[in-house]
Amino acid sequence: MQYPIYRPRRMRRNETLRRMVRETRLSPDNLIYPLFVVHGQGVRKEIGSMPGVYQLSVDGIIEECRECWALGIPAVILFGIPKDKDPMASEAYDPDGSVQKAVAAIKDVIPEMVVITDVCLCEYTDHGHCGIVENGEILNDPTLELLARSALSHAQAGADIVAPSDMMDGRVAAIRDLLDEEGYSDTPIMAYAVKYASAYYGPFREAAESTPQFGDRRSYQMDPPNATEALREAALDIEEGADIVMVKPALPYLDIIAALRDRFDMPLAAYNVSGEYSMIKAGGKLGWVDSEKVMMESLISIRRAGAGMILTYFAKEAARFLG
Ligand SMILES: [Zn+2]
Repeated sequence: MQYPIYRPRRMRRNETLRRMVRETRLSPDNLIYPLFVVHGQGVRKEIGSMPGVYQLSVDGIIEECRECWALGIPAVILFGIPKDKDPMASEAYDPDGSVQKAVAAIKDVIPEMVVITDVCLCEYTDHGHCGIVENGEILNDPTLELLARSALSHAQAGADIVAPSDMMDGRVAAIRDLLDEEGYSDTPIMAYAVKYASAYYGPFREAAESTPQFGDRRSYQMDPPNATEALREAALDIEEGADIVMVKPALPYLDIIAALRDRFDMPLAAYNVSGEYSMIKAGGKLGWVDSEKVMMESLISIRRAGAGMILTYFAKEAARFLG
């Protein structure tokens, strides 16, 4: 008898054979591109730690959306940078806020494109936390009303999906209740269900100007060593009415993505965050890694773990590569 009878290398011999047994696919359909909106006209300010990513005024946002749509990317997610910040995050729920204006403008020009809005207070509060602060504490329940009002203002502006990222307990239910009450029962909620207190968010805070002015976010975002808690968080958001659950960050938490895929029959998203992007860009700039290949391998690993939707700053590059 010849040994071994089964030789896995047989099916790896050339690209056509490899193509035929490939188990996971990545398509532009899987990608969601994050954008940062500022007030004004003609504003295009590159984020130092995120090459190729800009803070843009609405005109620039429209240009980016046209480009994404042409590349086959079905959706963008918007983060707003306000004119003024205050303790109550007033611009978060202002109909004339940067995000609200951008949503309306995109839907006007590319009505088929899905516009998702990030719902949180940290870009809008002067202290940079995701909720109302009293005596140095981030209050849960009083924050819910402001989050729900923000989500409603996004829906009223035309947002297709609202995506709460604050990690307050009960916010999905609070948002669902208000949306339903106000006639937006068809607006889905993409919940940042499992969001870890991660050092990988560093470059984003420059982009969104949302660095906390005191303390950190560990009293509301999840502790990185925890995995069973991730399942409880996701179960709660699903019970409260989430239509999509998300894990954030993606690459250091592929086990969590796989665990959620296994447990819940729900659309699953993962956020390939700023630090994951910047490290690959930096490695490429230094000539230490082939950044394009590392990008594609990273994105396929997130798909393989089980995420159907990937929020990523690589969306346009990856779509171009796939095209
Ligand atoms: Zn926040």
